[in-house]
Amino acid sequence: MNKLLRGLLILGIAFGAVAWLAVSTRTGQDLLLPRLINAAMQSQSVTRYDGIRVFMCGTASPLPSPDRAQACIAVMAGETLYLVDAGEGSSETFNLFGESTVNIKAVLITHFHSDHISGIPDFNLNSWVSGRKAPLVLIGPAGVERIAEGFNEAFALDRSYRVSHHGEDLLPPALGELGFREIAPDEVWQDGELRISAFPVDHGPVKPAVGYRFDYKGRSVVISGDSNAVDSLVTAVGNADLLLHDALSMPMISAMEEATKRFGRERQSRIMHDIQNYHAHASMLGKAAEQAGVKMLAAYHLVPPPRNALMENVFLRDLPEGTVLTRDGMVFELPAENDGITVHEP
Ligand SMILES: [Zn+2]
Ligand SMILES: [Zn+2]
Repeated sequence: MNKLLRGLLILGIAFGAVAWLAVSTRTGQDLLLPRLINAAMQSQSVTRYDGIRVFMCGTASPLPSPDRAQACIAVMAGETLYLVDAGEGSSETFNLFGESTVNIKAVLITHFHSDHISGIPDFNLNSWVSGRKAPLVLIGPAGVERIAEGFNEAFALDRSYRVSHHGEDLLPPALGELGFREIAPDEVWQDGELRISAFPVDHGPVKPAVGYRFDYKGRSVVISGDSNAVDSLVTAVGNADLLLHDALSMPMISAMEEATKRFGRERQSRIMHDIQNYHAHASMLGKAAEQAGVKMLAAYHLVPPPRNALMENVFLRDLPEGTVLTRDGMVFELPAENDGITVHEP
């Protein structure tokens, strides 16, 4: 063994010993802990972006996934922050990546399947505790009132405990209740310089089901919600900079259907069969994106959510080259009055 190698080996052993002492001994823990907490406190969340900033807070569908939350996309334009859907685990993902909930203005709901709404109470609680200045509003098609009122009732006791524990000055009770606004499936409205357009999608038998388009300072982002790749969507997408689309991998879902059948799991097998007709097959998204003239295609609400490189590659082989297979924590930045799109890996 030459001198250099021996030196490196001794250095490695010494480093390992110091790391072990720091993590495993009481003195080491007491030294490290305040530093780690300080570092976490100092991380600054983004509260303003000159253009459109998209944060992926959930990229999975209802099929279980260890490191993906269910459908959730945060769209920031200037200082305005909206969520599109909030499935299970998405609030946790949002917080884990250091995003701030305090400025969330509303949750735009595409439809009322559980994997798009079950994270709403957590976002509501987190943003209320963080000091949100107005009630969190749910915006969605007919039925949104029932969702808001149902959650308000289900979490009434939880809110009462928290108010009596922390006081009304810290947690004003009126800000803890969800508000709601029903929209038409093709409604277009303006929020300052941001234009939001709802458009109907094909997710039958789920009706109504909509997608949303955001236009701000010359940039545009379209979010499909759950939908087949249909013509109405192509129209709505019209030359958008970024299209985030629901995607189902037929090779994987077919394999799962076959396997569940082989193992006598008839119920699961039938579900694997039924879901094939109301999500966009990955193999069809390329044509739709090309027809719509979209600059960048990104797949989310992945059915099934890929767990490893093999599953990711099976997904990607059906998508056009350059398609982004999203993952939780990914960020897309579209600067104002510009052509560029920057993709930040988590
Ligand atoms: Zn759905
Ligand atoms: Zn869904």
